[in-house]
Amino acid sequence: MTDKAVGILGGGQLGRMLAASASLLNIKTVILDVGEHGPAKQVLAPNSPQFSHIDGSFTDPTKIRELAAKVDVLTVEIEHVDADALSQAQCEIQPHPSTIKLIQDKLNQKRHLQAKGCSVSDFLAVDSTVESIHAAADKLGLPLMIKSRTLAYDGRGNFVLRDLSQAAEALAALGNRPLYAEKWVPFAHEIAVMVVRSTSGEVRAYPAVETIHKENICHLVFAPLRTRDATLSHRAQTMAADAIKTFDGAGVFGVEMFLMEDGGLFINEIAPRPHNSGHYTIEACETSQYENHLRAILSLPLGSTALKVPSCAMLNIIGLSSSMDEIKALTSVALSVPGASVHLYGKSECRKGRKMGHITVVADSDAELRTRLRILLAALPSSPI
Ligand code: ATP
Ligand code: MG
Ligand code: MG
Repeated sequence: MTDKAVGILGGGQLGRMLAASASLLNIKTVILDVGEHGPAKQVLAPNSPQFSHIDGSFTDPTKIRELAAKVDVLTVEIEHVDADALSQAQCEIQPHPSTIKLIQDKLNQKRHLQAKGCSVSDFLAVDSTVESIHAAADKLGLPLMIKSRTLAYDGRGNFVLRDLSQAAEALAALGNRPLYAEKWVPFAHEIAVMVVRSTSGEVRAYPAVETIHKENICHLVFAPLRTRDATLSHRAQTMAADAIKTFDGAGVFGVEMFLMEDGGLFINEIAPRPHNSGHYTIEACETSQYENHLRAILSLPLGSTALKVPSCAMLNIIGLSSSMDEIKALTSVALSVPGASVHLYGKSECRKGRKMGHITVVADSDAELRTRLRILLAALPSSPI
């Protein structure tokens, strides 16, 4: 297939699914992350001493150099890497480190998208002071979304300011991280589109999907979109592809969007890597996001992004406590549901709010999907919607 070896910064669940895809294509893969037995390292034995995994941080320049010396192409499963150290690496890097650096600062990402004419809602830089937050609220109104510019995931850098008196609380909750403010978006639905781009610049969008979040964490994804608006899927795919064309480098990108009551769309944020809203592509699309990421960064032909089933849903398995009991109960129910595929990430510890796995359900019709999904939702201790 290819003689090139791939180095992945990050060894979590996205790295695990990339590694599983790489093994099907016999692509040599080296993982850089702390620890010897994380989710990605578990599924891929080193092919040889040259391709043994690295125990270290993806924010450590020395470890990034060590990884670069072993492989031909570096890529990421997480954007919170040391982008400057990455840009010094002596091998091909996909997507481009400047793209990762731009996207990892959510304020700079928003400024970039706005400057390129992409649809984003209003936002402002804020200092970490009560006065600055009050000034942003004066301009953008309440409620106001205060966000950390960096290191955000699963909403863990977000604070919803409902009242000016909460400004100090917001600063305390978000710590010393650099902040910005976003106008509150009263969206009707959230949707997402995965986009893949090759090293030669070919861009293909996956189907638009609906994402349902609970407490800022993605819980459910439905594909394709259920909508009476015949233009919506195509508009979302075009908007996502146009946004990705403004960034350099190859790979898959996740584009999160807000759908307004009047059919308008705003881009919420972009991830320069495989994405939770694209897990469904493993069972439901002609080529999974993971395989297409590998094909893209290795200059292999891109695969079809089309759906191959009429109806699909993805349910995240989110930890409720330190106990694995609820997860075991849910997955054993899933094994009896036709069309359900269980993915467990091999995390050694469970915590409230931690993504422990997911279940994809496919069906021949939306009605059949609902019947199948209902069995899983009934097995959850609390409903995600
Ligand atoms: P992710 O895990 O997707 O990277 P994140 O920590 O980067 O999450 P965001 O995607 O910015 O956080 O926000 C998380 C969720 O919060 C969104 O999916 C949406 O439900 C809600 N949200 C974000 N921004 C706004 C906004 N401006 N107005 C209303 N709701 C918002
Ligand atoms: Mg994010
Ligand atoms: Mg998000």
